[in-house]
Amino acid sequence: MSAEQHEFQAEVKQLLDLMIHSLYSNKEVFLRELISNASDAIDKVRFEGVIKPELLPSDELGIQLIADPEARTLAIVDNGIGMNRDDVVSNLGTLAKSGTGEFLEKLKGAGGQGDAPELIGQFGVGFYAAFMAADEITVLTRKAGDAEAVLWKSDGGGGYSIEAAERDGAGTTVTLSLKASDADDGLQDFTDEWVVRQTVKKYSDFVAYPIKLEVIRPPKPASKEGADEETEEKDAANEPLNSMKAIWTRPDSDVTDEEYKEFYKHISHDFQEPLLRVASKMEGNFEAKSLLFVPSVAPHDLYHREMSHRGIQLYVRRVFIMDECRDLVPEYLRFMRGVVDAEDVTLNVSREMLQQDRQIQAIRKYLVKKVLESLKALRKNDEEKYLKFWGEFGPVLKEGLLIFDEKKDRILDLVLARSTNDDAKLASLDEYVERMGEGQEDIYYMVGNSIDALSNSPHLEAFKEKGIEVLLFADPVDEVWLQQMPPEFKGKAFKSAGRGAVDLEEKDEEGEEGEKKEPENEIFNDLLSALSSALEGTAAEVRLSKRLKSSPACLVLEEGQLSPQLEAMLRQAGQKVPETHPVMEINSDHVLVKKLQEIFEADATDARIATYAELLFGQAQLAEGGQIDDPAAFSKKLADVMLKAL
Ligand code: ADP
Repeated sequence: MSAEQHEFQAEVKQLLDLMIHSLYSNKEVFLRELISNASDAIDKVRFEGVIKPELLPSDELGIQLIADPEARTLAIVDNGIGMNRDDVVSNLGTLAKSGTGEFLEKLKGAGGQGDAPELIGQFGVGFYAAFMAADEITVLTRKAGDAEAVLWKSDGGGGYSIEAAERDGAGTTVTLSLKASDADDGLQDFTDEWVVRQTVKKYSDFVAYPIKLEVIRPPKPASKEGADEETEEKDAANEPLNSMKAIWTRPDSDVTDEEYKEFYKHISHDFQEPLLRVASKMEGNFEAKSLLFVPSVAPHDLYHREMSHRGIQLYVRRVFIMDECRDLVPEYLRFMRGVVDAEDVTLNVSREMLQQDRQIQAIRKYLVKKVLESLKALRKNDEEKYLKFWGEFGPVLKEGLLIFDEKKDRILDLVLARSTNDDAKLASLDEYVERMGEGQEDIYYMVGNSIDALSNSPHLEAFKEKGIEVLLFADPVDEVWLQQMPPEFKGKAFKSAGRGAVDLEEKDEEGEEGEKKEPENEIFNDLLSALSSALEGTAAEVRLSKRLKSSPACLVLEEGQLSPQLEAMLRQAGQKVPETHPVMEINSDHVLVKKLQEIFEADATDARIATYAELLFGQAQLAEGGQIDDPAAFSKKLADVMLKAL
């Protein structure tokens, strides 16, 4: 077969362009990426080899680096799982993950080169990093169990070629034709033994397989000393460059921060440093060590659950069992990365069996406790970091509030929210409860689409006037945990400021206002019925409001009623949801409402009543950041009214 030419996926082209012209100074990280890939590939063959031993290579599992100063090449050779033709096309030609569209957006948004490292990290595009150091890359690979090999070749331009090839044994050889080294550009000479040694030591020391280096030297004239040197060199080449020590087995005091960070990058394929490290040792009936990290930036696939691919690795007595062991942490901690090394799990467990495994369950419980404790400590000790954490992962953590178990309280302890108390500072529930005024029994909150719309919401007018703090929530998950299964916090119930009837007047010492409203209610009764019938099929009812101060009207849902957003979500998910309508509350102190009452008293059939009913309803929808059902009809009515007023 002759070589077939393929185009890179458009996103890959853009990425490569970014890589090649990147000003990123740590260009040597490409080696870490290629070694990580090689080590992952060996993990995989080792895992499959448990059931199919014939897939395992006859020689020792490991990674061989071959530097050739004369040819200016560096090869990374592994005897891992290898790839077949289809694997090569999908792995080394596309960004075959979810969120490529999003990636493209960010790339456009980034404009210059400055954000390249962050983008590179977030989208886990490790292999392509090699184009920072190489003009041309060839990948010769043969999948374990296959007879044929594949040769992939690219200069990082628009495409790559693929052809059938031969390779001794399964595995992958990635050969880089190195660019000229350039100290100014941060590119060292990777055919230099010292450079390679240092880089491996720095980034890949804990890789679990031996990484060996062979430097090809021009043949020397035969002499007695020459022969000695050669044997010496061979010996050196047999010494692994890395210590292979599992980092989680070393005492904490022995491991430097740098080593932890590199380890994190190795297992997570994230270019950035982790935000938090949670190391723990479980003792007792079940024994396990774990080393977990919170990334500093949410991975792009955080919300594509079925796609998210780097999670927590499971080891059993230092032997790698699997990547991304989902059973080790609940969904709401799926952003955690790291390793768990258990003592007693059977080695050849299947994924299905793991779920039932008592030890895994015990470890999971323990990890949840540890992680939540560490987050609590972070909140206390490093506010800035905690805010960053909350910004990235708060919405995911709040998913834990949807589960009925004893962890709820610990998660509530970690919740932060915007508050009407202070625009600039997020409030914790603790702080809220401390600030609650005398006589206030509930924690008031409001949920909506955006914090901006919420903080200007007419629903809050009376609360603001009376200085009652309201927490504002605008993540999609808030809707569900607060409204469908409201928890209690320190014995206080959560109460929506935007739902049901609120009667803040009751809390006035004299109770004057409450009394004043009663007869007024009767004066407006007929107008209210007229407005209600004008809005039949749109509003469930029109009533006087006790929460409005300056706006003429607002829409209110009854306690327990589904919000429009949740209704839409459920419908999208194919559920049948009965149609419900909000209540429109009007402000009897507002001139507009007073004027309507006058018109109504003069002529109860005046057509303006119905028009104003619809306009009030529409503007109340807009005021809470909602959408008008029929914008064209609304605009027309509004224009008519404006014209008449001129
Ligand atoms: P990532 O490693 O983050 O998934 P890469 O771009 O580095 O992204 O690699 C893409 C994919 O190519 C890997 O997920 C893996 O399936 C495959 N791959 C890369 N290098 C190797 C290798 N040495 N052996 C086998 N498969 C590999």
